[in-house]
Amino acid sequence: MTSLHSTSGEQPLLHLEKVRREYPSGDGVFAALKSVDLTIWPGEMVAIVGASGSGKSTLMNILGCLDRPTSGSYQVRGQETGQLEPDQLAALRREHFGFIFQRYHLLGDLSALGNVEVPAVYAGLARNARDQRAGALLERLGLGARTGHRPGQLSGGQQQRVSIARALMNGGEVILADEPTGALDSHSGVEVMKILEELHAEGHTVILVTHDMAVAEHADRIIEISDGDIVADRQQRECKPAPSLPPPHPPAGGLQQLIDRFREAFRMATLAMAAHKLRTFLTMLGIIIGITSVVSVVALGNGSQQVILENIASLGTNTLDVYPGTSFGDMRSSRVETLVPGDADALASQPYVDSVTPSVSSSVTARYRNVAANAQVSGVGEGYFRAKGQTLLQGRLFDATSVTSRAQEVVIDETARDTLFTNGEDPIGQVVMFGNVPMRVIGVLKKSQMGFGGNDTLSAYVPYTTVMTRMLGQSFLSSITVRIADDADMTAAQAAVTRLMQTRHGRTDFFINNTDEIRKSITSTTQTMTLLISAIAVIALVVGGIGVMNIMLVSVTERTSEIGVRMAVGARQSDILQQFLIEAVMVCALGGVIGVLLALGISGLFSLSGASFPMIISATSVVIAFLCCTMIGVTFGFLPARRAARLDPVEALSRN
Ligand code: ADP
Ligand code: MG
Repeated sequence: MTSLHSTSGEQPLLHLEKVRREYPSGDGVFAALKSVDLTIWPGEMVAIVGASGSGKSTLMNILGCLDRPTSGSYQVRGQETGQLEPDQLAALRREHFGFIFQRYHLLGDLSALGNVEVPAVYAGLARNARDQRAGALLERLGLGARTGHRPGQLSGGQQQRVSIARALMNGGEVILADEPTGALDSHSGVEVMKILEELHAEGHTVILVTHDMAVAEHADRIIEISDGDIVADRQQRECKPAPSLPPPHPPAGGLQQLIDRFREAFRMATLAMAAHKLRTFLTMLGIIIGITSVVSVVALGNGSQQVILENIASLGTNTLDVYPGTSFGDMRSSRVETLVPGDADALASQPYVDSVTPSVSSSVTARYRNVAANAQVSGVGEGYFRAKGQTLLQGRLFDATSVTSRAQEVVIDETARDTLFTNGEDPIGQVVMFGNVPMRVIGVLKKSQMGFGGNDTLSAYVPYTTVMTRMLGQSFLSSITVRIADDADMTAAQAAVTRLMQTRHGRTDFFINNTDEIRKSITSTTQTMTLLISAIAVIALVVGGIGVMNIMLVSVTERTSEIGVRMAVGARQSDILQQFLIEAVMVCALGGVIGVLLALGISGLFSLSGASFPMIISATSVVIAFLCCTMIGVTFGFLPARRAARLDPVEALSRN
């Protein structure tokens, strides 16, 4: 039988001893292979025959390192396989075996050329060499004109020839063909057998499974298997000494190989996404909504905060406001009459004070000819306009003389001008009644940006002395604005002002408002709000991530057979993991891009809608959005990807 080999002292190629393979069945186990002893020598062409269910495929899977024996020993070129890790088995498959399946098992998304190349990708063959070799193999198998066709565009015989080319891609020292002609018409079947015989003649070891004796007759040796045991092993004809195969191509360098494998994983991920566009989009939707809301909310927060801070700046920098009462909400503050012009004078003489502006305000009806409107009259000092950074549009402001002489002069704002002087006449020099006090308009101020008071009230500025004596008949002020000298310390100045006022009044019947503090509290409030809303949006993103995980699990289940094929041709677990992880990350990242674009669109619409503040999308928030998406992809893609990577190759292959 095998005397030729054993006497030549040659090493067996494949060697099985007492191999047993059990499957769980009901309560006990079922032995598909009972105790198989078998030696295959290099260059043989072996047919395994037997009835359906006799254990032929089980044996083939063990021979091809897709499966491991339950007990017994299997050696490939003297190397024991029983204790090998999945990735080491994958390496054996890559280096020694080429599989041909009954139903071809080509990857439907790839062209014929792409299918043939897959084993070389995992083996790390350089890209050019890969393309060339795959093209040459297809040419040789008579498919030179069909390299760009998808499996769906090829006949059964052609698909089987593509799968033979794939089996040869990494060298195909041992060709394992499980019922290679089983799904073919007789003509294509004959063709495939001719190719296998040619390969055998070239030095490939060919092992094929068939239940067709006519097919088995092509082999030199026929092994018959029945109920998990070898019952006959006939040498048909003497096996010619095999010519040695050309050595396989040298693989590409380490880094290039990593890049190639990554690129393959990336390409498969994009193909998978493109094949299910609607599903991919729906998967992304959660991420899109999450990212759009986070980015928009943060942009709204930033925009409104910026405007508010600008407004505060227009209230004056380095200023303290002294008010009567205990706080803004104090109902009795209007009855506190102790804040007087004398306080303002005392403050003005302090070394750390730059200027002081007393103010008193009153709400009265303004009348000009037949127009009447409610107006907020502010009695202020001549330094007020500079301290508040107000801009004069027309006319002039009042000066110190106006204040001391209690002049009946008024500076109005744009709103007041537009309301009172409806037909565009020049307001300067006109006399307007405020309550029952006539005042001459001397200037018009530019409307300040949206302040706290809203922008639809009419504002009029009159010397405070005029308001106190002629309008209100009171001797106390509503507030004193103190501008601290630029070189003085704000906190120390505030303490000094407090002390001075306490000594003058003998008690604390006033409070001091520091615009710096308002600024700080507004900043921290908007930050808190942004954080809060972002937290809600993060929950939305997590929900989106769970959606991604869900669909990825479906995708893994759907592509189990593809995963099996990749494993059979030698993909490592990490290759499979990478492919699905990349897909998850890409779905999320693309969702992130769309989300950011949507947020940009929303901010555009927002500014077109004439909102009083802009949405500010910062580069930081965009970068963070992307990082979040990537992290979600990795986090929620990991479980499905790991499930894919840990699939059992035999089970995966048998799934459709
Ligand atoms: P063949 O290829 O000769 O038709 P197989 O090797 O596929 O036979 O199967 C041999 C026996 O093992 C059959 O009885 C089959 O039902 C059983 N078998 C194969 N795979 C499994 C499995 N994964 N789980 C349980 N039983 C299995
Ligand atoms: Mg079978």
